[in-house]
Amino acid sequence: MSRTPLISGNWKMHLNHLEAIQLCQKLSYELARHRYDQVEVSLHPPFVDLRSCQTVIDVDRLEFKLGAQNCHDQNQGAFTGEVSPTMLAKLDVTYVIVGHSERRALFGETDEIVAAKAAAVAKQGMTPIVCVGETLEDREAGRATNVVTTQLRGSLAKLTRAQFETLVVAYEPVWAIGTGRNASPVDAQDMCARARRVIDEIRPGTGSLVRVQYGGSVKPVNAPELLGQTDIDGALVGGASLDATQFARIVNAAR
Ligand code: PEP
Repeated sequence: MSRTPLISGNWKMHLNHLEAIQLCQKLSYELARHRYDQVEVSLHPPFVDLRSCQTVIDVDRLEFKLGAQNCHDQNQGAFTGEVSPTMLAKLDVTYVIVGHSERRALFGETDEIVAAKAAAVAKQGMTPIVCVGETLEDREAGRATNVVTTQLRGSLAKLTRAQFETLVVAYEPVWAIGTGRNASPVDAQDMCARARRVIDEIRPGTGSLVRVQYGGSVKPVNAPELLGQTDIDGALVGGASLDATQFARIVNAAR
Protein backbone atom coordinates (compact mmCIF):
# COMPACT_ATOMS: atom_id res chain seq x y z
CA MET A 1 0.00 0.00 0.00
CA SER A 2 1.64 3.27 -1.03
CA ARG A 3 0.97 6.24 1.21
CA THR A 4 2.32 9.65 0.17
CA PRO A 5 4.54 10.94 2.99
CA LEU A 6 3.32 14.11 4.65
CA ILE A 7 5.84 16.48 6.23
CA SER A 8 4.10 19.09 8.37
CA GLY A 9 5.68 22.19 9.86
CA ASN A 10 4.12 23.22 13.17
CA TRP A 11 5.23 26.81 13.67
CA LYS A 12 3.54 27.00 17.10
CA MET A 13 3.37 30.56 18.50
CA HIS A 14 6.21 31.89 16.34
CA LEU A 15 6.38 34.45 13.49
CA ASN A 16 4.15 37.43 12.77
CA HIS A 17 2.39 37.57 9.40
CA LEU A 18 5.29 39.32 7.63
CA GLU A 19 7.81 36.79 8.94
CA ALA A 20 5.42 34.00 7.97
CA ILE A 21 5.29 35.23 4.35
CA GLN A 22 9.10 35.34 4.29
CA LEU A 23 9.38 31.78 5.57
CA CYS A 24 6.92 30.51 2.91
CA GLN A 25 9.00 32.19 0.23
CA LYS A 26 12.36 31.02 1.60
CA LEU A 27 11.06 27.50 1.87
CA SER A 28 9.79 27.51 -1.67
CA TYR A 29 13.22 28.72 -2.83
CA GLU A 30 14.97 25.95 -0.84
CA LEU A 31 12.63 23.27 -2.10
CA ALA A 32 12.88 24.39 -5.72
CA ARG A 33 16.33 22.82 -5.74
CA HIS A 34 14.88 19.43 -4.86
CA ARG A 35 12.19 17.32 -6.43
CA TYR A 36 9.47 16.73 -3.93
CA ASP A 37 6.47 15.73 -5.98
CA GLN A 38 6.40 12.42 -4.10
CA VAL A 39 5.96 14.22 -0.78
CA GLU A 40 3.19 16.45 0.55
CA VAL A 41 4.20 19.44 2.64
CA SER A 42 1.85 21.27 5.00
CA LEU A 43 2.62 24.49 6.85
CA HIS A 44 0.82 25.31 10.10
CA PRO A 45 1.29 28.98 11.00
CA PRO A 46 -0.48 30.77 13.85
CA PHE A 47 -4.11 31.74 13.08
CA VAL A 48 -3.28 35.40 12.46
CA ASP A 49 -0.81 34.43 9.71
CA LEU A 50 -3.16 32.13 7.80
CA ARG A 51 -4.63 34.70 5.43
CA SER A 52 -1.18 36.01 4.47
CA CYS A 53 0.18 32.51 3.91
CA GLN A 54 -2.91 31.55 1.92
CA THR A 55 -2.38 34.57 -0.34
CA VAL A 56 1.32 33.92 -0.95
CA ILE A 57 0.72 30.20 -1.61
CA ASP A 58 -2.04 31.10 -4.05
CA VAL A 59 -0.39 34.04 -5.86
CA ASP A 60 3.08 32.45 -6.10
CA ARG A 61 1.56 29.02 -6.84
CA LEU A 62 3.58 27.35 -4.08
CA GLU A 63 3.25 23.61 -3.63
CA PHE A 64 2.42 23.75 0.06
CA LYS A 65 -0.82 22.80 1.75
CA LEU A 66 -2.02 25.24 4.35
CA GLY A 67 -2.61 23.90 7.84
CA ALA A 68 -3.84 25.12 11.22
CA GLN A 69 -2.65 24.16 14.69
CA ASN A 70 -6.01 23.86 16.42
CA CYS A 71 -9.67 24.88 16.15
CA HIS A 72 -12.95 24.82 18.06
CA ASP A 73 -15.47 22.03 17.52
CA GLN A 74 -18.38 24.44 16.86
CA ASN A 75 -18.83 26.41 13.67
CA GLN A 76 -19.95 29.60 15.40
CA GLY A 77 -21.11 30.96 18.73
CA ALA A 78 -20.17 32.78 21.89
CA PHE A 79 -16.70 31.30 22.27
CA THR A 80 -14.47 34.32 22.80
CA GLY A 81 -11.03 33.94 21.29
CA GLU A 82 -11.78 30.74 19.37
CA VAL A 83 -11.58 29.95 15.64
CA SER A 84 -14.06 27.64 13.93
CA PRO A 85 -13.62 24.85 11.37
CA THR A 86 -15.75 26.72 8.81
CA MET A 87 -13.48 29.78 9.12
CA LEU A 88 -10.45 27.59 8.44
CA ALA A 89 -12.08 25.84 5.49
CA LYS A 90 -12.84 29.24 3.95
CA LEU A 91 -9.09 30.02 4.09
CA ASP A 92 -8.31 26.90 2.04
CA VAL A 93 -6.88 25.10 5.04
CA THR A 94 -6.33 21.42 4.23
CA TYR A 95 -4.94 19.98 7.48
CA VAL A 96 -5.74 20.84 11.10
CA ILE A 97 -3.61 19.54 13.97
CA VAL A 98 -5.82 18.42 16.85
CA GLY A 99 -4.82 17.14 20.27
CA HIS A 100 -1.20 18.28 20.13
CA SER A 101 0.41 17.37 23.47
CA GLU A 102 0.84 21.07 24.31
CA ARG A 103 -2.94 21.52 23.96
CA ARG A 104 -3.58 18.39 26.00
CA ALA A 105 -1.13 19.36 28.78
CA LEU A 106 -1.47 23.17 28.88
CA PHE A 107 -5.09 23.68 27.80
CA GLY A 108 -6.75 20.62 29.33
CA GLU A 109 -7.82 18.93 26.10
CA THR A 110 -9.17 15.45 26.78
CA ASP A 111 -9.64 12.64 24.26
CA GLU A 112 -13.33 13.57 24.18
CA ILE A 113 -12.56 17.18 23.22
CA VAL A 114 -10.02 16.01 20.63
CA ALA A 115 -12.60 13.60 19.17
CA ALA A 116 -15.16 16.42 18.81
CA LYS A 117 -12.57 18.66 17.12
CA ALA A 118 -11.40 15.90 14.75
CA ALA A 119 -14.99 15.20 13.70
CA ALA A 120 -15.76 18.91 13.23
CA VAL A 121 -12.65 19.35 11.06
CA ALA A 122 -13.45 16.32 8.93
CA LYS A 123 -17.07 17.46 8.52
CA GLN A 124 -15.80 20.61 6.78
CA GLY A 125 -13.82 18.52 4.29
CA MET A 126 -10.45 19.16 5.95
CA THR A 127 -8.16 16.45 7.32
CA PRO A 128 -7.40 16.27 11.02
CA ILE A 129 -3.86 15.40 12.08
CA VAL A 130 -4.68 13.70 15.38
CA CYS A 131 -1.76 13.72 17.83
CA VAL A 132 -1.12 11.03 20.41
CA GLY A 133 1.90 10.18 22.53
CA GLU A 134 3.04 9.08 25.96
CA THR A 135 4.91 11.05 28.61
CA LEU A 136 8.33 9.99 29.92
CA GLU A 137 6.63 8.80 33.11
CA ASP A 138 4.29 6.60 31.05
CA ARG A 139 7.20 5.14 29.10
CA GLU A 140 9.30 4.45 32.16
CA ALA A 141 6.35 2.77 33.83
CA GLY A 142 5.94 0.49 30.79
CA ARG A 143 2.52 1.87 29.84
CA ALA A 144 3.38 3.76 26.63
CA THR A 145 1.48 1.35 24.40
CA ASN A 146 -1.62 1.39 26.62
CA VAL A 147 -1.63 5.19 26.78
CA VAL A 148 -1.34 5.59 23.01
CA THR A 149 -4.01 2.92 22.40
CA THR A 150 -6.43 4.63 24.80
CA GLN A 151 -5.76 8.04 23.21
CA LEU A 152 -6.39 6.62 19.73
CA ARG A 153 -9.63 4.91 20.73
CA GLY A 154 -10.91 8.06 22.45
CA SER A 155 -9.68 10.66 19.96
CA LEU A 156 -10.89 8.85 16.83
CA ALA A 157 -14.24 7.81 18.30
CA LYS A 158 -16.39 10.24 16.33
CA LEU A 159 -14.96 9.77 12.82
CA THR A 160 -16.84 7.87 10.15
CA ARG A 161 -15.27 5.10 8.13
CA ALA A 162 -14.93 7.38 5.09
CA GLN A 163 -13.19 9.99 7.27
CA PHE A 164 -10.74 7.33 8.49
CA GLU A 165 -9.63 6.74 4.92
CA THR A 166 -7.99 10.17 4.66
CA LEU A 167 -7.04 10.56 8.31
CA VAL A 168 -3.53 11.47 9.53
CA VAL A 169 -2.32 10.39 12.97
CA ALA A 170 0.86 11.81 14.49
CA TYR A 171 2.67 9.70 17.06
CA GLU A 172 4.57 12.21 19.16
CA PRO A 173 6.15 10.98 22.39
CA VAL A 174 5.84 13.96 24.73
CA TRP A 175 9.38 13.51 26.04
CA ALA A 176 10.75 13.95 22.51
CA ILE A 177 8.95 17.20 21.66
CA GLY A 178 11.27 20.19 21.70
CA THR A 179 13.89 18.32 23.72
CA GLY A 180 16.41 17.39 21.03
CA ARG A 181 15.92 13.75 22.06
CA ASN A 182 14.08 11.80 19.36
CA ALA A 183 12.62 8.30 19.73
CA SER A 184 14.90 5.70 18.21
CA PRO A 185 13.81 4.67 14.72
CA VAL A 186 13.04 1.17 16.06
CA ASP A 187 10.85 2.46 18.91
CA ALA A 188 9.12 4.98 16.62
CA GLN A 189 8.46 2.25 14.04
CA ASP A 190 7.09 -0.10 16.74
CA MET A 191 4.64 2.48 18.05
CA CYS A 192 3.54 3.66 14.60
CA ALA A 193 2.92 0.02 13.57
CA ARG A 194 0.98 -0.51 16.80
CA ALA A 195 -1.07 2.65 16.10
CA ARG A 196 -1.88 1.31 12.64
CA ARG A 197 -3.11 -1.97 14.14
CA VAL A 198 -5.32 -0.11 16.62
CA ILE A 199 -6.74 2.02 13.78
CA ASP A 200 -7.52 -1.16 11.87
CA GLU A 201 -9.26 -2.62 14.91
CA ILE A 202 -11.41 0.51 15.26
CA ARG A 203 -12.35 0.62 11.56
CA PRO A 204 -11.37 -2.64 9.87
CA GLY A 205 -9.66 -2.19 6.54
CA THR A 206 -8.41 1.37 7.15
CA GLY A 207 -5.12 0.61 8.92
CA SER A 208 -3.19 0.45 5.67
CA LEU A 209 -4.74 3.71 4.39
CA VAL A 210 -4.16 6.05 7.33
CA ARG A 211 -0.91 8.01 7.29
CA VAL A 212 0.98 7.82 10.57
CA GLN A 213 3.55 10.55 11.14
CA TYR A 214 6.29 10.55 13.74
CA GLY A 215 6.97 13.79 15.63
CA GLY A 216 9.51 14.73 18.27
CA SER A 217 12.86 16.43 17.58
CA VAL A 218 12.96 15.49 13.90
CA LYS A 219 16.05 17.12 12.36
CA PRO A 220 17.90 16.70 9.06
CA VAL A 221 20.36 14.36 10.78
CA ASN A 222 17.78 11.84 12.06
CA ALA A 223 15.07 12.28 9.38
CA PRO A 224 16.41 9.76 6.83
CA GLU A 225 16.40 6.85 9.27
CA LEU A 226 13.08 7.76 10.91
CA LEU A 227 11.34 8.35 7.59
CA GLY A 228 12.80 5.16 6.17
CA GLN A 229 10.72 3.02 8.55
CA THR A 230 7.89 1.01 7.00
CA ASP A 231 5.08 2.40 9.15
CA ILE A 232 6.25 6.03 9.36
CA ASP A 233 4.55 8.08 6.65
CA GLY A 234 6.04 11.48 7.34
CA ALA A 235 6.85 13.81 10.19
CA LEU A 236 5.29 16.52 12.30
CA VAL A 237 8.14 18.97 12.78
CA GLY A 238 8.27 21.79 15.33
CA GLY A 239 11.58 23.59 15.88
CA ALA A 240 13.24 22.58 12.62
CA SER A 241 10.26 23.82 10.58
CA LEU A 242 11.17 27.42 11.44
CA ASP A 243 14.41 27.12 9.49
CA ALA A 244 13.82 26.86 5.73
CA THR A 245 17.10 25.03 5.04
CA GLN A 246 16.58 22.43 7.76
CA PHE A 247 12.93 21.88 6.88
CA ALA A 248 13.75 21.47 3.18
CA ARG A 249 16.36 18.85 4.10
CA ILE A 250 13.75 16.94 6.10
CA VAL A 251 11.31 17.11 3.17
CA ASN A 252 14.07 15.88 0.91
CA ALA A 253 14.73 12.94 3.25
CA ALA A 254 11.11 11.82 2.79
CA ARG A 255 11.38 11.39 -0.96
C1 PEP B 1 5.86 19.41 17.58
O1 PEP B 1 5.68 20.57 17.90
O2 PEP B 1 4.90 18.71 17.28
C2 PEP B 1 7.22 18.89 17.58
C3 PEP B 1 7.40 17.65 17.23
O3 PEP B 1 8.23 19.75 17.93
P1 PEP B 1 9.82 19.49 17.76
O4 PEP B 1 10.05 19.03 16.34
O5 PEP B 1 10.45 20.80 18.04
O6 PEP B 1 10.19 18.43 18.73
